[in-house]
Amino acid sequence: TVSIALLTQDLRLHDNPVLRAACHEADEVVPLFVLDPDIEAAGFAAPNRLAFLADCLTDLDGSLRRIGGGLVLRRGRSATETARLADELCAGSVHVAAGVSAFAGRRERELRRHLGDRLHVHDESLTVVPPGELTPAGKDHYAVFTPYFRVWRQAGERPPHRAPVALRTPAGIASEPVPRVKPDSPGLPEGGESAGRRLWRAWNVDRYEELHDDLAADATSRLSPYLHFGCLSATELARLAERQGGPGAEAFVRQLAWRDFHHQVLAARPQSAWTDYRAKRDRWWNDELEAEAWRQGRTGFPIVDAGMRQLAHEGWMHNRARLVTASFLAKTLYQDWRIGARHFLALLVDGDIANNQLNWQWVAGTGTDTRPNRILNPLAQADRLDPDGAYVRRWVPELADLPGRTVHRPWKLARTPGGYPQPIIDPTDISTRLRTGRGLD
Ligand code: FAD
Repeated sequence: TVSIALLTQDLRLHDNPVLRAACHEADEVVPLFVLDPDIEAAGFAAPNRLAFLADCLTDLDGSLRRIGGGLVLRRGRSATETARLADELCAGSVHVAAGVSAFAGRRERELRRHLGDRLHVHDESLTVVPPGELTPAGKDHYAVFTPYFRVWRQAGERPPHRAPVALRTPAGIASEPVPRVKPDSPGLPEGGESAGRRLWRAWNVDRYEELHDDLAADATSRLSPYLHFGCLSATELARLAERQGGPGAEAFVRQLAWRDFHHQVLAARPQSAWTDYRAKRDRWWNDELEAEAWRQGRTGFPIVDAGMRQLAHEGWMHNRARLVTASFLAKTLYQDWRIGARHFLALLVDGDIANNQLNWQWVAGTGTDTRPNRILNPLAQADRLDPDGAYVRRWVPELADLPGRTVHRPWKLARTPGGYPQPIIDPTDISTRLRTGRGLD
């Protein structure tokens, strides 16, 4: 018997329910990945993510080969290609992880149409707690994080699935080569399960609680791209951290719960990827010149520009910098969050339809924030998150010679350092711009 494990955002051997079920069920397993043109057509195939994906596929193929199998790579519409291969091989079953996006929903419906009850969908692959498992009375999802987190913590431990030790893939199945894509960002991390596991082992969760908001310390895990592509399982990471214990591990697990939270929102409301989760009454003030200055990291507000330049250089940005830059676009410049979300998706190596869109909505006040009018004052944030100015000096070389926190307000100097732009909006006017009556954090 043959079983197909259609891999999507679960590019790993460890704790992979899809691979595990396929191996359990059949003598021969085809681990399949389909490069789907619909993802490219939706603008979701950014070069940074494609380059990282290529590493993931190469690494997974290597790991599968070491246990006797191999990855089969196809190009085409995911459901059609999978069904075609299932028919060719007379596969008795096809296993796939449940997704949360509209795209994943369509793929699953098409697979079901082609395969009927040969299709098995596993909902415990993507998140620690499957979306939809926890719901408040009479509702289909949690709209507020705190009560969600309360029940999430009590949802019970799930033992991770062990990696298969042997696997046989039928010989002679045609497979495409892994596509090589040139990334947009020079500082991209190496993709794949092996690199992700190395990174986890090398990272120190103990200091996470103390340092996770310190921009210059750069002390967060940087595991987000590995979680996005499923090179690492969130369940396994939560368990490893919980075993270690302590405030750092606790704070880290809480972030994994945020990830689950956004996934369960998107699973229940797939349209909230691009439409306001909560309708916004007033209109945006879109201004293309301001948006472009923001994209280029040339707003004249150093903390904002540092974040945007880190994104361009690394395809990644510190969480606090994401909050500051997003708030600057959506709340200070008052531009539509979709403009920012689209730019982030074009560059982020961890760019994720659930985490990106719903975090953007949270910041813009159209999402799940219980204080939708909250505004982050970029100058107060700079003083708090980068008190010595080291993060700004790292990413904005024009300001590298300015001492301490003078770096956050270069317009106050007699002469602005060469080449650095003047602020695109009047910094003394910022609280008016932030609109009276709204709280500043
Ligand atoms: P750590 O602090 O080490 O956290 C561990 C893991 O928890 C992360 O890898 C991530 O999977 C998860 N996590 C942490 N914070 C959040 C959060 N607020 N929401 C959901 N999950 C979280 N994260 C993405 O993975 N992809 C995105 O496209 C994305 N876009 C964002 C856009 C905006 C405007 C904002 C404010 C946040 C966004 N985030 C996104 C969430 C967060 O910024 C990143 O997950 C985090 O910075 C990744 O770095 P890390 O792995 O070092 O995180």
